[in-house]
Amino acid sequence: MTPKEVLALCRREEIKAVDLRFMDFPGTQKHFTIPVKALTEESFEDGFGFDASSMRGWQAINESDMLVVPQPETAMVDPFMKNTLAMTCNIQDPITREAYAKDPRNVARKAEAYMASTGIADIANFGPEAEFFIFDRVWFDQNEHEAYYHVDSAEGQWNRGKTPDGHSGGFQIRHKEGYFPMPPSDTLQDLRTDIMLTLQDCGVNIEGQHHEVATGGQCEVDMRYGSLLTTADNLLRYKYIVKNVAARHGKAATFMPKPLWNDNGSGLHLHFSLWKNEETLFAGSGYGGLSELAIYAMGGILRHAPALFAFCCPTTNSYKRFIPGFEAPINLTYSFRNRSAAIRIPVHNSSPASKRFEFRCPDASCNPYLAMSAVLMAALDGIQNRIDPGMPLDKDIYDLSAEELDVFPKVPESLDVSLQALREDHDFLLRGDVFTEDVIDTWIWFKQTHEVQALRERPHPWEFAMYFDA
Ligand code: GLU
Ligand code: MG
Ligand code: MG
Repeated sequence: MTPKEVLALCRREEIKAVDLRFMDFPGTQKHFTIPVKALTEESFEDGFGFDASSMRGWQAINESDMLVVPQPETAMVDPFMKNTLAMTCNIQDPITREAYAKDPRNVARKAEAYMASTGIADIANFGPEAEFFIFDRVWFDQNEHEAYYHVDSAEGQWNRGKTPDGHSGGFQIRHKEGYFPMPPSDTLQDLRTDIMLTLQDCGVNIEGQHHEVATGGQCEVDMRYGSLLTTADNLLRYKYIVKNVAARHGKAATFMPKPLWNDNGSGLHLHFSLWKNEETLFAGSGYGGLSELAIYAMGGILRHAPALFAFCCPTTNSYKRFIPGFEAPINLTYSFRNRSAAIRIPVHNSSPASKRFEFRCPDASCNPYLAMSAVLMAALDGIQNRIDPGMPLDKDIYDLSAEELDVFPKVPESLDVSLQALREDHDFLLRGDVFTEDVIDTWIWFKQTHEVQALRERPHPWEFAMYFDA
């Protein structure tokens, strides 16, 4: 869509308000709204001012004025706001008019430009599988000293005996048997269909929806693959629509990676392939039907995996997902078919165009612009330096003995550990000025002080269970 077409769309749809959105540095969407008459063709060049000093990890107070510049190709009629057109924006410096280095969308644009400049590929396709939980009710008790959260899940054992309105307790999903049950056990069917149809109306191409393994109301709606920037923009839309459809059903959706102990967590598996001149570079005659280039790309991702985790699994809660027995990856290895490896090569479709591998480590608490850019940079490094990913794993990891498993490096055990890995290994991210030193330093500082340290300082509810009577 061009600026002219956006303005025509506004007239046709009787739009009265324009919502300007962007991704903040840690990965939460932000917005403000203008009346439609304030949007002109010039707005797409000149942008609109806002105070960037109030944004986590951004400008200092003395240089706080920044611009949001709406991107016409992201325009959509908002399905939840009254007579409103929404657009995703780039962030610009009002004086130099340069793209802001700490705008995550700018990092993604630079990653795509860097890839093109290497001549290796002209498109990186990502197919995301973002899992999430639906809860009947979530509430927080918070004061200066404490924060406790409580959940009543939509389904299953986590109800602790409570039966949500209209749900017969006789049809509860059994522990870890949430994959594909029929209604009435699956009570979230219509909610997921509403999500699916709303996404389609908003221009996101959907492949299907289903209940996921966890008992507590876990869901997945899969979108079709697309380029890095398009997929990251679509993931913003996805989370917004999932949360708002759930709210309209009187429920709460969460992308938190491990909300419930002893049940599956939620991943953001990324299906990845590189293309040039509209042909895949990934089909070949190597392991799992992959090309040599694809195998080196896996080598790069596995080599840099500990540092990648700082962007792909960037919350303290992310690491509670990596427990054996819950379908999340534990060992940094790859495998044809096997779902217990960090990278899996799916085989259900043998056409060359569908050749890809699935990086299973990320979760949706990430900033998708930064996470997917980092994955792409690691893959390119693997190709440039012909990094060998080592031997594949063809047995179920969960059935191997401790000695057999010892040969595989493990996923980092905490956010603290992956931030340290990023501190030591980030040269591959700096190429083409994609991630600057400032972006890396700010990321590590923000996560370390606002999340790792913030959690470390607070007594945990489980400590009361373990130690109260010490
Ligand atoms: N929920 C699992 C995870 O944490 C993945 C299940 C699946 O493969 O769909 O990654
Ligand atoms: Mg899944
Ligand atoms: Mg998957």
